[in-house]
Amino acid sequence: MKDFLKIVRYIIPYKVYAALNVLFNVLSTIFSLFSFALVIPFLGILFKTQPLITEKVALDFGDVSSLQQNFNYWLSQIIIEKGEIQALVAIGIIVIIATFFKTGTMYLANHFMVPIRNGVVRDIRNKLFDKVISLPVGYFSEEKKGNIISRMTNDVQEIEWGIMSSLEMVFRDPIKILLYLGTMIFLSWQMTIFVFILLPVVGLIIGQAGRSLRKTSMAGQKQMGSLMAQIDEMIGGLRIVKAFNAEKHISGRFKSTNEDYTGLMNKINRRRFLASPLSELLATIAIVVIMWYGGTMILDQESAMSSQALIGYLIIFSQIIAPAKTLSSSWYNIKKAMASVDRVNDILSARNLITEKQGAESKHEFTDSIEFKNVNFAYNADIPVLSDINLKIKKGQTVALVGQSGSGKSTMVDLIPRFYDIESGEILLDGINIKEYKLSDLRELLGYVNQSPILFNDSIYHNIAFGKENTNEKEVMEAARVANAHDFISETESGYDSNIGDGGGKLSGGQRQRLSIARAVLKNPPVLILDEATSALDTESEKLVQEALENLMKNRTSIVIAHRLSTIKKADLICVLHEGRIVETGKHDELLAKKGIYYKLHNLQVN
Ligand code: ADP
Ligand code: MG
Repeated sequence: MKDFLKIVRYIIPYKVYAALNVLFNVLSTIFSLFSFALVIPFLGILFKTQPLITEKVALDFGDVSSLQQNFNYWLSQIIIEKGEIQALVAIGIIVIIATFFKTGTMYLANHFMVPIRNGVVRDIRNKLFDKVISLPVGYFSEEKKGNIISRMTNDVQEIEWGIMSSLEMVFRDPIKILLYLGTMIFLSWQMTIFVFILLPVVGLIIGQAGRSLRKTSMAGQKQMGSLMAQIDEMIGGLRIVKAFNAEKHISGRFKSTNEDYTGLMNKINRRRFLASPLSELLATIAIVVIMWYGGTMILDQESAMSSQALIGYLIIFSQIIAPAKTLSSSWYNIKKAMASVDRVNDILSARNLITEKQGAESKHEFTDSIEFKNVNFAYNADIPVLSDINLKIKKGQTVALVGQSGSGKSTMVDLIPRFYDIESGEILLDGINIKEYKLSDLRELLGYVNQSPILFNDSIYHNIAFGKENTNEKEVMEAARVANAHDFISETESGYDSNIGDGGGKLSGGQRQRLSIARAVLKNPPVLILDEATSALDTESEKLVQEALENLMKNRTSIVIAHRLSTIKKADLICVLHEGRIVETGKHDELLAKKGIYYKLHNLQVN
């Protein structure tokens, strides 16, 4: 029950819509009951057993039998004055009117349901997106990506079904069943007692048949997920697939999963088709049993019920079966939705360990230095990645980090914007621990250019202006000029409005890098971090990018990670990292003279 409330909770903001939905469902049920009940006098007239009532009784809307008496009085008047055919026509017209209201209110009920289900789904998606964006970089490892996407799509979908089902299960179906049962009791309480015994038995059998179907359909969903993942992988890795002539292998893998999925779906669909004849058969058996029971009572004249009332009773009984059936499938949807709610909540309740202090300080200027003081850091508790890092970067300096791949260079610069927090030691910005500052202020001071530029499927303009709110075309163009990007942008079809494709796929590596440099130029941060910004480029574009970088670094404090040592000869300070420790520091010439690790690295590249 507590779990169930988890789902109902989502509906609370939409309670007005929910109330309207319930109201119109009730009205719709009443109108449908009314039109079914009219079968009774209709048959009565045909069988010539309709009692003629000439006495009017006082009309009381709270008393069903007074309503019935008045209706019969009115009908009797028509039969007496205009004949039986006219009475049949009158009943027909009322049935049409009642059905008009029944279907109209049914539509209105769904009309008010629509904003609930779509609204809830929108709310959850927005909440998830905001949460995911707020989580620290460290939360995401590769295998979690698919997981998160599946939660934002499939699980949200499940919750949508669950919400609908719970509205139906809590409000619509029980109300329907109660109103129908009430009418049946009114028509014949003896027979209804009999129904009370019969109904649960039928419900149980139908429910059981459904349950095994659900298990297989769960398995089917899993297979579908795996198919989707393979399609995603195939499109993402198409280049490699083709280059390695692996089409056959990949396609074979896909076909085998697809085959499994088809087998499961065959099973599911066959079972699903079994469910309907099974329940129809059971329902018919139930109706026949009631027919027999009621028929015996009427023939033995044990009951005051007329034969037309028996038929009306059977019709109404047949209407109970559908909501009784959906009641059990709703319960299944709700259970599935609960599991999805849990998965979604896993993300929503993930703790963000990188937090801003209360009353954190504002910081809009970089005035003095960035300092690493006895910094130790590890991604996983027992494998130290950085140990005992001490480094002071003064304003205006260019500091280079060099070292083998895996020595911890990228990790070190990721600590400055607090992508990860350190365990021991301090990182100081202008003498104050970076944890004291507002996160957004701290990050505002930093500019980033990576080895693999992160671009978005959008126009060139928006990729450069990314994250900056008040900017204009002139500034963007100026930034592009500084970044050596203006010329190639002008040559594209729609200039700054050209779309660059997924991840900038329509551009060359050098062009992509220059766009990300233009973005950094526009942001104009006092501190710049360049993490192997040129190492993925060929010599030709490296020259253009190098030039762009030098423009960018002018009058700034820069931390440069460079693969090619020739690019950092002029750095004010070079730190050599080895297995997470700074092992040498100094200027280019000093380090060469030392004949240590830097010397070795340098020689490797020169020869
Ligand atoms: P560099 O940039 O000098 O090549 P990194 O700073 O990227 O080196 O990596 C340093 C070490 O940290 C490597 O051993 C790497 O395997 C490990 N590492 C990097 N990123 C992660 C991560 N997100 N989770 C766990 N280990 C990581
Ligand atoms: Mg790196």
